[in-house]
Amino acid sequence: METIHSRLNQVRQQVLATEHQYARPAGSVQILAVSKNQAATTILEAVNAGQRAFGENYLQEALTKITALSAYNLEWHFTGSIQANKTKAIAENFSWIHGVDRYSIARRLSEQCPANKPELNVCIQVNIDNEPTKAGVTLTELPKLATAVAQLPRLKLRGLMTIPTPRQNFCEQRQPYQQLHQAFLQLQASGLLLDTLSMGMSDDFAAAIAEGATIVRIGTAIFGKREP
Ligand SMILES: *Cc1c(COP(=O)(O)O)cnc(C)c1O
Repeated sequence: METIHSRLNQVRQQVLATEHQYARPAGSVQILAVSKNQAATTILEAVNAGQRAFGENYLQEALTKITALSAYNLEWHFTGSIQANKTKAIAENFSWIHGVDRYSIARRLSEQCPANKPELNVCIQVNIDNEPTKAGVTLTELPKLATAVAQLPRLKLRGLMTIPTPRQNFCEQRQPYQQLHQAFLQLQASGLLLDTLSMGMSDDFAAAIAEGATIVRIGTAIFGKREP
């Protein structure tokens, strides 16, 4: 029978094999379990299988689960889109935020991050395929936003995140991730201390690892198909 434990182990093995195949150090890619739409009891199965970092997209749903699982010392990543009226609760309850794409939102997160908490780890979302309906800055807008966000006192700019248009084969899947990696290297060359490329989901994480991902965000491959 497929359990969350067995699926998680499969993903771990695939990540390890892909790290090896592309000469990435073992353990250089972190698995973020994206648990949106999953119950706290389901998340607990993954916790019992050794998973500590979870991604959530919807604030209210996330807060219930964060409270229910507060005894487990988990690391919560906000992976959804961020509305201005939600920044305070996000800053208070999450340690990572993957979808920052506007200075106004970044500034609010910095101002609202509680003084007794470590700095918020932030990735800037890049709309790598320039899709009109998708969040994220363009590669052209990226350097200006990155430089500004890096100066906010309570944020720690860690790197970049993207959600490309789905592609059919491995070769094509690598292209947007290669572009994001190039942009990442340029920002590093301009003096920003970045260490995170948040890229790759259930259907394309091997391609993302081949192109330098350090965090892969995996939902379906761990939890099975999401119930709406
Ligand atoms: C839902 C989601 C994922 C996980 O997607 P799967 O295809 O289920 O692995 C990853 N990243 C973000 C931002 C998501 O919203």
